Amino acid sequence: MTDGHDHHGHDGGDLLPWEDYRRHILSAIEPLPPVSLPLREAFGCVLAEEVRAQHDIPTFASSAMDGFAVRAADVAEASEARPTALSLTGEVEMGRRPEVTVGPGAAARIPTGGAIPAGADCVVPIEECRVEDRQILVLRSVPLGKHVRPAGQDVRSSEVLVPAGARLLGPQLGLLATGGFATASVHPRARVAVASTGDELVEPGEKAEFGQIHDANGLTLFGAVRETGAEPVVGGIVRDDAEALRKLVQTVEAEAFVSSGGVSVGERDPVKAAFLEGDEVQFFRLAMQPGMPQAFGFVGGRPFFGLPGNPVSVFVSFELFVRPAILALMGRRDLFRPEISAVLDADIEGLPRKTRFARVLVRSAEGGFVAAPTGGPQSNLLSTVARANGLAIIPAGTELLRAGEGCRVMLIREVEG
Ligand code: AMP
Ligand code: MG
Repeated sequence: MTDGHDHHGHDGGDLLPWEDYRRHILSAIEPLPPVSLPLREAFGCVLAEEVRAQHDIPTFASSAMDGFAVRAADVAEASEARPTALSLTGEVEMGRRPEVTVGPGAAARIPTGGAIPAGADCVVPIEECRVEDRQILVLRSVPLGKHVRPAGQDVRSSEVLVPAGARLLGPQLGLLATGGFATASVHPRARVAVASTGDELVEPGEKAEFGQIHDANGLTLFGAVRETGAEPVVGGIVRDDAEALRKLVQTVEAEAFVSSGGVSVGERDPVKAAFLEGDEVQFFRLAMQPGMPQAFGFVGGRPFFGLPGNPVSVFVSFELFVRPAILALMGRRDLFRPEISAVLDADIEGLPRKTRFARVLVRSAEGGFVAAPTGGPQSNLLSTVARANGLAIIPAGTELLRAGEGCRVMLIREVEG
């Protein structure tokens, strides 16, 4: 690792590659301890321990068709020309143990999902019979087991129903419910507190006097946290006052903390002043644009991310570092956004020593993806993020990527159209 306290200078000195910084963060993050949640509340969470079936699924043999439960041996010779007559001895009702049994020469009416009555070993679909008063004429032979869904066909007793590490979405929750479970042991949704530092900030909707600005980062981060499936906790605006920030970070009820602003070299930058002494939080300078200055560490055992103040830097640093860390806290294994390669439709300048993350709008075209820059590289241009669905990764040392050349793009949203 670099000297964590190297907070002097701008472009001088060693800059840490962003991948190394991400590795450093992820190596320090452990999943939150499991809790037992009712299935609906567990939606989107990661299962902490494998769940095995306690009984066969389905638990009983049932019919896959509307028709008649019969004995295959009775209808072995049935054909259109020489139908087999069977006497209709009863009916299977949905959701009940059958009262009827099917002896030789008999048939019982059965609905899809009805339990196969004792004695029957196959089902003749209704389309293959002629129904008369107290008997049916079977028009085709049906082999043993036909149209019967046997017990344990989906999952057998003691087999793994849902493996540890699986994300519980609808089908997994449905499977657990089918297996008789009402709760699941999962890594809980992390509560992530978000605060915006800056003497210049006012709340959305408040009047901004000359020189003041509305807090954009608080909202950008609220949305970004929400999108990970974690629960944002609103920390609000914190003045450039180290004591206020320290107090908030130490007292807020959350499993992680994200602040924006105040991590560069300004005299009043509060994040440094709040944490430098205690040595819980380290400061880094990364070989990337936007997002060079960063802070990361643990306060009271909970991860703290100090992002730079510019809105684009906030968004990009969240995507690269905070999002994977939050997902890791929640036990997720798929931590990173998908990457594609796309053809640029305009030039993008690179930087000699830093990886540039350029906001682009990716569209699919014949033969692949095309990426269009959504605006200039300055880190205050939040509209360039709002219009983008990807971050083009321009490697350090690239002078210029020209229109028509390919480049790597991290997708931050779906490609539409
Ligand atoms: P800082 O990193 O605190 O020096 O801030 C860098 C730039 O980002 C300054 O122009 C700030 O005014 C701006 N900035 C900081 N925090 C926010 C915020 N919450 N919303 C919008 N802009 C901000
Ligand atoms: Mg500031």
